[in-house]
Parts: sequence; structure tokens; C-alpha cells
Amino acid sequence: METYAMDSEQIGQFETNIHGSVIRPEDVKYDEARTVWNGMIDRHPALIVQCSGSADVITTVNFARANGIPIAVRGGGHNVAGSAVRDDGLVIDLSEMTGVRVDPNERTAWVQAGATWADLDHETQAFGLATPGGVVSETGIAGLTLGGGLGHLRCKYGLSCDSLRSVEVVTADGEFLTASSVEHSELFWGLRGGGGNFGVVTAFEYGLYPVGPEVATCLVFYPGDQLSECLRVFREFVASAPEEISILAFSGVMPDEELFPADAVDDLKVGFLACYSGPAEAGERALLPLREITEPIADFSGTMPYIDFQQILDEDYPDGMRYYWKSIYLDGLSDTTIDRIEYWTDAAPSPLSTIDVWQLGGAITDTDIEESAFAGRHAPFLLGVEANWEEPGHDDANVRWVRDCLDDMRQFSDGSVYLNFPGFMEEGDAMMRTTFGPTYERLVELKDEYDPTNLFDLNQNIAPSGTARTNGGSSHE
Ligand code: FAD
Repeated sequence: METYAMDSEQIGQFETNIHGSVIRPEDVKYDEARTVWNGMIDRHPALIVQCSGSADVITTVNFARANGIPIAVRGGGHNVAGSAVRDDGLVIDLSEMTGVRVDPNERTAWVQAGATWADLDHETQAFGLATPGGVVSETGIAGLTLGGGLGHLRCKYGLSCDSLRSVEVVTADGEFLTASSVEHSELFWGLRGGGGNFGVVTAFEYGLYPVGPEVATCLVFYPGDQLSECLRVFREFVASAPEEISILAFSGVMPDEELFPADAVDDLKVGFLACYSGPAEAGERALLPLREITEPIADFSGTMPYIDFQQILDEDYPDGMRYYWKSIYLDGLSDTTIDRIEYWTDAAPSPLSTIDVWQLGGAITDTDIEESAFAGRHAPFLLGVEANWEEPGHDDANVRWVRDCLDDMRQFSDGSVYLNFPGFMEEGDAMMRTTFGPTYERLVELKDEYDPTNLFDLNQNIAPSGTARTNGGSSHE
């Protein structure tokens, strides 16, 4: 295994300056430490540094840069492309840094960058507060927030990155900065939607809102032959729905013997996942039309603790299964678009896969486009195509399904994508330019300032001027 300019004496010296753990390939913890959520990813880093705090991150960034070692940055390890690990490189692993401190008076939470949404929700809900997160609690706050962040509170309170007050970050030259609207404000702008391009974030400070502890929720499944009708009702409903509601419509077989009656387990289904971020009683009433379209196969809607709803999908995405997810923003949900969603749902090779339509708008659209680097405020919907399967022999068919579906759906889109559902990051520079539009050049300028040698290249990469965009070797597993 290539170890660049490192010899064991150098590594030993480095290790004495690390308070966390330095894990080598021969260590018993190595296999566990190099494993990420997506079972498609099987990479062998040269070193994994499980940092205990910002000091370890500074030391490790300086060590990697001085020795020319390619790095990967690991938050929650849930990126579909597996960008938290890389072959032969050095992983800056933040998974031990999960501290959360809530200030209930100021309604803020300071959170270390290895935390998951479960870690953060646990602390904030003790005070009846929350910040907009994702819809699966095991996902890392770091990657999700840096790419934008879509969750159950999005139409009312915006993206995860919209709630950021400040970000602590170690830049490529090993400097520790706090970026906010008043300090390093351009960096703060870029960190909100520009992904992991500008440094290693060690902590985020979020603003919090009163949410729950009990919220009205909707999780309802209808027969697949009602797919068109349900998506049409959804289209009409969101046009006048209160901002407290954020709906995810989904379709697929989703066989689950515990959830569904025996005669419906293997059939196609369509459904809605939504929560009302206001008083539960009003929410129950407001969500009712989504539950009465026709006779449901199953309806798990009702008032429940927000913290439980945040975890309701966790079991559906087990560690180590095989996944390939991509997305595209839709410019509307016309009848033809709905017909194509029906076609591609039917064509899925795996019964575990889904096609998701995320309602956007509300606070996402109301936030000024100049406010942050995030590029998806214009669209009313996001289409997520999720291939989920178990057999390695089925890899090609599932990856092909996602790609073919998106190629077809591009006719209903301006071609921009949500960068947190990146496939294997195989897209080129053209996709990044399409997605960011005029903002792209501003991001390149920021990259030139903070990471001119592209030390942080294993991400949805913004190449510094005069260099080619890389994907850090993260193409097809
Ligand atoms: P990691 O794999 O650890 O990191 C991904 C990338 O983020 C890294 O390669 C790096 O470039 C960057 N990064 C991570 N940590 C840092 C850091 N501290 N400093 C600098 N850069 C860093 N997205 C949504 O918006 N809403 C959802 O509801 C949602 N649900 C999801 C559910 C599941 C089961 C999964 C797997 C993903 C989901 N996503 C969702 C997508 C998610 O936003 C991305 O997968 C995101 O990259 C996960 O972040 P992570 O920290 O867990 O990932």
C-alpha cells in the first residue's frame, strides 16, 4: 500500500501529537473504521485519524499537506458516494466529536461536526427546540448541512444551512477560523451549500426554533394504481398548504411484512411523509386531506414525539446495504411528469427502491438567493431517485435504472441537482456549472483563496482556477 512520503517514524512522531486515535491497516479497529454506510464502498485508506477535537484536526491537516497525502473528511459517513474514505489516503474522521451544547435562552446549539441528527435532536428536544435537519436521524449533521439540508421543517424554517449562525473551520493551511455573517463572511457564505470544499468544519452553531415535543405527522400508503391520482392531489395540495407542512411523496414496492397486509406486501405503493411544525391539533386537521385520497393500504399518521418522527425511516436504510441515489430539481409536476414517475417506479429492478418527490418552496424560496451558496432555491420540487438493493450481482441494473430515469426526467428540469444525492460523483464540471449557475465563479474565487491546491478534493469538487475538477477517484465502485 502506498504511503506517500510517510515512514513509520514520521507516523509515530505524528501520532504523539494526536489526542484521538491513529488507525493503521494492521490495527484491529481498521476494518470497522474504514467502513461507511453504503455497502457499495470498500476503500482502504493508508491512515485513519479519529480526531478528538480541533487541535487534532489542525495537526492532521498540516501533516497531510506537508507530506502530500490525499485526504478524505468523514462526518457521519453517510454520503452515498462514500466520499468519507479514500484508497491510500488519510481520513480525517470526526465521528468521535459528537458534543452538543444548547443555550435555551439564546435558542442556539453548538455542535461538534461528527454528530448525527439523533445526537442533536436529543439535546435540543429536551428544551422543546429543533433546527431543520434531515429525515434520517443517523445521517451526519456535517455533510448534510454543508450541502444544504432538506428535512421535515424545511418549508417553515428553511434548509439546515439556513439556520447556521457560525461555523468553526480548519482551512487548508491549518488555520482555525470562525466564519459567520460578521467574520470571514464570504467563507460563511460558501460553507452554506458549497459542501466540503473550503476546509474541515469542527463545529456548527445553529439557531433553534420551538418544535414539538409532540407534532402531528402523516405517513400514509396507497395502492400503486392510485399513483397518478395521489401525485395530482399532492400537486394541488402544496399550492396552498401552510408553510408548517413539508411533504415528501414517494412511490415503490417497499415490501415490509410488518407494515402491510399480506395481500399488499409485494404490490406497488405510493405514499406521503409529512410533519406539521406547529400546534399538533391544527396539524392533524391540516394533514387530513393527504390521508383521505382513497382507502389507504396503511396509515401510521398521528401525533407523536418529534424525536420519534425524526427516526421513523432509520430502519429502512441499514448500514452496509447497497445504495445509489441521485436527484434533479423539477420545474413543476405536470401530468406528463407524473406519468414518467409512474413509468420509472414500475421499472425499478429492486422492490426496495423508491422515487421521491420533495416539496420545496416556503422558507427555502423566501430566503434570498444571495444569502448563501446553496443553489436549489428556485425549484418547487426535487426528484430523488433511490436505488436500494442487497445483491452485489444486481449493481449494474440498479445504477442503470437511476441514470436512465434521470436522463429521461431531465426534460422536466433545468438540469440542476441537489449535491447531497450525488450518485458516485461521476458528473463533470458541466453539472456543477449548471447547478450553481453564475454563483460558480464566486465559489471558484473562494476556493482560490482558501484551498488553492485543492487539498479538499474528495467532494462535489469546485476546482481552483486553472486546475481540472476531480472526484478524488470516486467514480464507480
Ligand atoms: P460523510 O460521508 O461523512 O461526508 C460527506 C462529505 O461531506 C465528505 O466527503 C466531505 O466532503 C463533507 N464533510 C463531511 N464532514 C465534513 C466536515 N466536518 N468538514 C468539511 N467537510 C465535511 N440529505 C438531506 O438533505 N436530507 C435528508 O433527509 C437526507 N437523508 C438521508 C438519509 C440517508 C440514509 C442518507 C444516507 C443520506 C441522506 N441525505 C439527506 C444525504 C446527506 O445529506 C449526504 O449523504 C451527506 O453527505 C451526509 O453527511 P455525512 O456527514 O453523514 O457524510
